[in-house]
Amino acid sequence: MKSYITTPIYYVNGSPHIGHAFTSIMADILKRNRQALGYELMLSTGVDEHGQKNQEAAQELGMPIEDYLDMRCAEFRDVFDKLDVTYDYFVRTSRDGHKEAVAGMEQSIFDKDLIVKKNYTGTYCKGCEEFKKESDLTEDGQCPLHPTMQVEQTEETNYFLKMEPFRERLLKHIADNPDFVQPVAFRNELKQMLAEPLEDLCISRPKARVTLGVELPFDTEFVTYVWFDALANYLTNIDWPDESYAPWWEECEHLIGKDILKPHGVYWPIMLMAAGLPLPKKLSVHSHWVGAGGVKMSKSIGNVVDPIEVMDKLGVDALRWYLARHMRADSDSQISVELIAQTYEAELNNKLGNMLSRAAKFARSKFDGKLPVKGELTAEDEALRQTVLKATAGMGEWIDLADIPARTQAIITAAAELNEYIDKQAPWSLFKNEDTRERSKTVVYVALDCLRIVMEALQQVIPASAGKALATLNVTEVARPWKPELDRLPGGTELGDIQPLFPRVQ
Ligand SMILES: [Zn+2]
Repeated sequence: MKSYITTPIYYVNGSPHIGHAFTSIMADILKRNRQALGYELMLSTGVDEHGQKNQEAAQELGMPIEDYLDMRCAEFRDVFDKLDVTYDYFVRTSRDGHKEAVAGMEQSIFDKDLIVKKNYTGTYCKGCEEFKKESDLTEDGQCPLHPTMQVEQTEETNYFLKMEPFRERLLKHIADNPDFVQPVAFRNELKQMLAEPLEDLCISRPKARVTLGVELPFDTEFVTYVWFDALANYLTNIDWPDESYAPWWEECEHLIGKDILKPHGVYWPIMLMAAGLPLPKKLSVHSHWVGAGGVKMSKSIGNVVDPIEVMDKLGVDALRWYLARHMRADSDSQISVELIAQTYEAELNNKLGNMLSRAAKFARSKFDGKLPVKGELTAEDEALRQTVLKATAGMGEWIDLADIPARTQAIITAAAELNEYIDKQAPWSLFKNEDTRERSKTVVYVALDCLRIVMEALQQVIPASAGKALATLNVTEVARPWKPELDRLPGGTELGDIQPLFPRVQ
């Protein structure tokens, strides 16, 4: 069983921001989920090094382009490493194998007479690096995605891919494969994009204007339009055109933000059809993050959430947890450093960290540093155990992007019940009385065994903290395929060191 998950490749005309961190962390959570189910995984993320915007960013800093790209590439890699994103392949579109494969794909489409050369006059947005139709623009004639950049009238000779011959086929594919685009709101949006005849897609840029790109194999005066080149990374990462790509490609799932639905839902499938290649299995679309109160993040308002700053202040899992817990697939979600800190304190620290340290410290001091052996169980014990099994079961099943918040919420709700259980059972009081001392052992065992299940499940979301917790419980191996199972903590074994999981922050 294979699973291939991709993130978009990110433009390197600036430093990594929360949007980059988000998509790559979600991809990592899905990867860890599939691995827990026993799948063989391929996760790709990386950077798009071509196009006019990158070229201009290097010029602004007065750096040679190669040095600039190396610097940004290292920066993105470093951030993803710090975010515990366990990518299997880090994409750089400047690598040789990629460029050759892109050129090969273009030549094969050109040979089928699906690419035409023509002169075009139109409104061009530098931000999108594409021509815009009048209906794409705002009332005052600007790009809705780049309102502060002026669109320009540009006249240019370029190469175009014929799109319209494939429109009906793509609509049929979407109808026949209801899972192809998720969630349903974005499937409908895509169908809307395909409701009218499609204009030819410009797939080149003259070298006079853009030099950073893949040269067209059939006309060396042009480089490839950045999307055509970038989208092909999904194939070249798995060694296409080598046949070995096929079993991965069949299982490919693209994670994308809603702003790039059109390139992934229209351009890419049609490029693949034109090249005679199968479509990816699925597009999982997410919405964006906005500041508290629903205000768009901006430097001037000062509400930009910098992933590095959050990690330095609260640790990587505070950020991973917040993003997983509060993302909404089909509407924008709010984020601020303060909201992250609140969730960290209320959920991770109060419900998980304190629970582990209280119960484990008690066991270490009262039971010779060992995990107690449980006795007979009461109805309350059984009820808690069933609650925890039920709440964590979702992490032992396939998770779609849109499922992530509900699955994490279920776990934290069960953790709250676990806290109530231990407060009510009060093993520290039971221990003081000789008649109830045995009972205190059972309570501590039940609580720690339930906490183990919770932490095993949370390895998919907050791997670093869950790993520390499991080390304290002396759990060295978690079975794969994983599902929540009771009584896997052997009573009578030594407990490990108690490390503070979620240190309090000022
Ligand atoms: Zn634009």
